[in-house]
Amino acid sequence: MADCLFCRIVAGEIPAALVAEDEDVVAFKDINPQAPVHILVIPRRHLPNTAASAEADEPLIGHLLRVGCRIAAEAGVGDSGFRLVLNNGPDSGEAVNHLHLHVLGGRRLVWPPG
Ligand code: AMP
Ligand code: ZN
Repeated sequence: MADCLFCRIVAGEIPAALVAEDEDVVAFKDINPQAPVHILVIPRRHLPNTAASAEADEPLIGHLLRVGCRIAAEAGVGDSGFRLVLNNGPDSGEAVNHLHLHVLGGRRLVWPPG
């Protein structure tokens, strides 16, 4: 989608601090980090969010979650702990309408979340 910020990052039209990529997903540092480790993992293919996904997207979303865990381990928070967040809709604070997994860690994360 031409007017989608994260599609433009995937296309290399907008710079991002890439952390990892494969044929299905791209991971990059969040521009406004909420924790010492804050990385976003996104599918290359435009999908609005998890709630809008279809049954056929299940392998992709499973892959996204597993890549998120691997990236957390590579960022050094695999043992200390981390959080994977998928925001959906206005009350969640979802701001970018291209599915993205937040990988957060490196500090004690509060629960319930704010
Ligand atoms: P959400 O609120 O779940 O939609 O999260 C969107 C996230 O994208 C926020 O944490 C933003 O800081 C982040 N973000 C927005 N623009 C960029 C960008 N150009 N590069 C990296 N992260 C971004
Ligand atoms: Zn997109």
